[in-house]
Amino acid sequence: MNTDLHAEVIAIGDELTSGQRLDTNSQWISERLGEMGVRTLFHTTVADDLPSNIRAFQVAADRVDLVVCTGGLGPTADDLTRQAIAEAFDRPLQRDADALAHIQNLFARRSRPMPESNHVQADFPAGSRVIPNPHGSAPGIDLSLDRPQRTPHRIFALPGVPAEMREMWFATVGPAISFLASGSPRVIRHQRLKCFGVGESDLEKMLPDLIRRGRTPTVGITVSQATITLRVTALAADASACQELMAPTLDTIRQCLGDLVFGEEDDELQHAVARKLRERGETLAVFDWGAGGLVAHWLSEAASDEFLGGAVLRSDRAFLQRIDQGAEVLASHGAHSRQAAEAMARQVQEDFGADWGLAIGPFPVDQQDQGDVHFALAGPSGMATTASPYTGHPDILLAKAAKQALNLVRKKLGGSEG
Ligand code: ATP
Repeated sequence: MNTDLHAEVIAIGDELTSGQRLDTNSQWISERLGEMGVRTLFHTTVADDLPSNIRAFQVAADRVDLVVCTGGLGPTADDLTRQAIAEAFDRPLQRDADALAHIQNLFARRSRPMPESNHVQADFPAGSRVIPNPHGSAPGIDLSLDRPQRTPHRIFALPGVPAEMREMWFATVGPAISFLASGSPRVIRHQRLKCFGVGESDLEKMLPDLIRRGRTPTVGITVSQATITLRVTALAADASACQELMAPTLDTIRQCLGDLVFGEEDDELQHAVARKLRERGETLAVFDWGAGGLVAHWLSEAASDEFLGGAVLRSDRAFLQRIDQGAEVLASHGAHSRQAAEAMARQVQEDFGADWGLAIGPFPVDQQDQGDVHFALAGPSGMATTASPYTGHPDILLAKAAKQALNLVRKKLGGSEG
């Protein structure tokens, strides 16, 4: 019985540390561990280098109860996991007759001679157990190490090939870890709330006591292209106990943030807008100068008949061609004006016969101008406008403008999710 198992996931291979391949194994394994109530404290990625591997295993044996590692179990000289575990814990390698027979059998079935190098795949650190690999030549290693005054440290070494690793996880490693953790049948559950409309620090100020270390359940905050995600995480006996634990926190967040919250989980603003339009049986069309067609692109994915279409403008000339009173608007106010955005919104509403016409004005000519991007929404009962300073990293300016436009529609259609 162990109520606080802590794990480390070690991914081994030059391919990973050189950036040629993304380590997806660690993500997958950590998710599975979390589902069993085992908290992963460290992810370590290490190259095919023996001293570094030895060190990684020794460090892990000191700081966690459980290691799951992947990679480095192949037959070639750069596959070092067996040797690293053996040397790290002074457990000389011993050949396992059954594992050797399995590998020989595998080659015989494929009618191929077994290369000499594959023999090492039947070598195991003394005292370890073989984790069968039904479809591959690299069996896994299961080793338990006694530690003075502490619970034993357990290592599960699996091949790097994701399909083989997963098969072995479900057949052997998962059940073994579940047994280790059986005194603490806990699961982890997350729930995400998506917010838009203020900066991260302002939002944090609105949730005074929620985002702090050690709180139960925990609330984490991340920002991606001006969308803020609040992630509530609970650890409890089962999924419904997790939900019960999270519910009051989720309620508090919703109360504090009001209509800044637009959705949950994988929701984006376009989903919130499409949902509202669908509920109301209304349609939207978009004239987009500042966001380069991004709003139409997103709505095309999220909406169906509610999004009628639109156009992307990139010049005064296109504006003059498409907007009825374009010449007057440009002469009196210029393209970078509320009036230009309003003219675009009215025009697209009319051209497409839509209930709502949305316009995103052009970015100010140069950032030094400190000008605004103007947004306008022509609706069944009038015009709504907003403007936003042209600030932020160039990489996110388009996305930010597109989101501000969608947020204007969302708020006009009826506020927060529902
Ligand atoms: P084998 O030699 O039997 O293929 P192995 O244990 O030696 O197994 P590696 O050689 O380290 O495994 O990796 C085999 C392949 O598995 C890699 O080429 C890569 O495609 C994939 N792989 C390895 N590690 C990971 C990882 N952490 N995440 C995703 N894929 C991985």
